[in-house]
Amino acid sequence: MALREVLQFPDSRLKQKSRTIEHVSEEHRQLAQDMCEVMYDEPGIGLAAPQLGEHVRLIVVDTEWSEEDQEPNALIVVNPELQEPEGTIKWNEGCLSVPDFNADVERAERVTLRGFDLDGNPIEEHAEGLRAVCFQHEVDHLDGILFIDRISRLKRSLYVKKRKKQLALESEDDERDGAHL
Ligand SMILES: [Zn+2]
Repeated sequence: MALREVLQFPDSRLKQKSRTIEHVSEEHRQLAQDMCEVMYDEPGIGLAAPQLGEHVRLIVVDTEWSEEDQEPNALIVVNPELQEPEGTIKWNEGCLSVPDFNADVERAERVTLRGFDLDGNPIEEHAEGLRAVCFQHEVDHLDGILFIDRISRLKRSLYVKKRKKQLALESEDDERDGAHL
């Protein structure tokens, strides 16, 4: 089966806020599975439901996985909330929805994540470093925020310009492909 497509900037659906999941349905379970498949395929270390165009508060994270040990151990969190932020850390972030770009983002160094698994059991995890950064990045997606919304205006506008150019070139290519018919 084909993998689901990841929405990419500047798709306006990435700016939409996601709603709380009142009751976990079969569709939510399927969505969580689809999200893991996309995350491991890319590979990425996290994914949020709105990146697949579904505006529900659901994230998957696996910061341990590497190509070598191939031991997937995804944390799937329904209605995640971040509490008790402490300290600050700068991390060079990227995002599957923001192609060809990385930038340093300032975040809390430690956070506590609370939420539920797909069976409604509570999850609580104290995280720091990369894992804390990843939790903050994914929960931001649920609020319609991308990491490029957290960098300087100048850096952001340089990226937006580059991205627009790239998209213009891609559509020119498409037109040229069409001419081969
Ligand atoms: Zn992202």
